Amino acid sequence: METPHANLLDAKFAAEAEAFDATDPLAGFAKQFLRPSTPDGRSIRHFAGHSLGLQPLQVRDYVQEVLDDWASLGVEGHFAARRPWLSYHELLTEPTARLVGALPAEVVVMNTLTVNVHLMMVSFYRPTPKRFRILIEGGAFPSDQYAVASQAQFHGFDPALAIQVLWPRPGEATLRDADILETIARDGAEIALILLGNCNYLTGQRFDMAAITRAGHTQGCLVGFDLAHGAGNLLLNLHDDGPDFAVWCNYKYLNAGPGGLGGVFVHERHLAGGDMPRFCGWWGHDKAARFQMGPHFQPMPTAEAWQLSNPPILALAALRASMALFDAAGMPALTQKAAWLTDFLHRQLLTLPAGAVTVLTPPEPHRRGTMLTVRVPGKAAELVGYLQRHGLEVDLRRPDIVRIAPVPLYTAAQDVAALGVRMRAFWEDHG
Ligand SMILES: *Cc1c(COP(=O)(O)O)cnc(C)c1O
Repeated sequence: METPHANLLDAKFAAEAEAFDATDPLAGFAKQFLRPSTPDGRSIRHFAGHSLGLQPLQVRDYVQEVLDDWASLGVEGHFAARRPWLSYHELLTEPTARLVGALPAEVVVMNTLTVNVHLMMVSFYRPTPKRFRILIEGGAFPSDQYAVASQAQFHGFDPALAIQVLWPRPGEATLRDADILETIARDGAEIALILLGNCNYLTGQRFDMAAITRAGHTQGCLVGFDLAHGAGNLLLNLHDDGPDFAVWCNYKYLNAGPGGLGGVFVHERHLAGGDMPRFCGWWGHDKAARFQMGPHFQPMPTAEAWQLSNPPILALAALRASMALFDAAGMPALTQKAAWLTDFLHRQLLTLPAGAVTVLTPPEPHRRGTMLTVRVPGKAAELVGYLQRHGLEVDLRRPDIVRIAPVPLYTAAQDVAALGVRMRAFWEDHG
């Protein structure tokens, strides 16, 4: 039995959602995505875009074009395809630069995220006996933890000494911005590389990229960011904020499909001169001279210098379809809508019974992106199963963490209102 109280809230939020959606300039984009269905044939509402984004309608056409060209042209497709494969990755350069606030020369789409973390650390983690630490956030995504530990080991350092971890204060769920900066000011002389996420994959906490970069550079550290949860989620200005590098995956907020290609940013200041240590491959070689097949590596004067192999065109095609949507919508409009939806979700969470959920993500809009992380003591798996049965896809991190992302490209305020209705109903039944 739902109480009148819950019904009143449902009606109030439904009216607010309807009004928002009626004037939402981005509302049309939702139709550009394919959705899984519930067993009884209704489209699901997808709040797990931070994990794997939905499939854009256009992906099929873009991929089909490559398949058709391959079928009809064979090897000639490298030059004669409608979009020649030789330069296909360049089609992603401008949209990617716009997405993350970079110069076109500073970005490239290649490989996958953890591979790129390693390739960037080859260039930007250059420890000395006095300065060999890597500063990361506590609770970093496991792959990042394995990557930094193995890099330290590769250089002959004990990860237990080389990896410095930022933890929240006792009793707090997220880091204080001031604590991060103080740690850098205090220990910076021993830190070779600062490598933070932005946002944190688990808590959704956003870090102040510009301030951290400034603090790191003041201490002589190199600074990189893992934007797995930032790209396509936050309004980024990588060039102006000035980190030395950044890496991200394109299959979460950016809908490039499972295992989709990653993105890399290398700041302009590292592009001039060919003396940067890196692992090299023929696709990083100066493209004008690549097919002279000479024995000596001459790097491209762009982030493309870090490319190793000729890229998988089918995967690039899928990403092109998604990036076209991001370009059409624009990150300023998307982040504005995201902020509203996230606040709307937050207000729904606050209507749940006291103690039912704790929101771990910082409440200040500038300290979070689109995802809210909640702790649901004792009932997380049950809640997620219940929501799923009602066509609402959220993300469970056992034992008690639930992550919810109302991503702006394909989420309507009415989707968030529907989630609120079901959450309140869950606690009516299970409270
Ligand atoms: C999703 C995610 C990864 C995943 O790495 P892949 O190499 O793409 O499998 C790594 N790091 C972070 C921070 C992530 O959020």
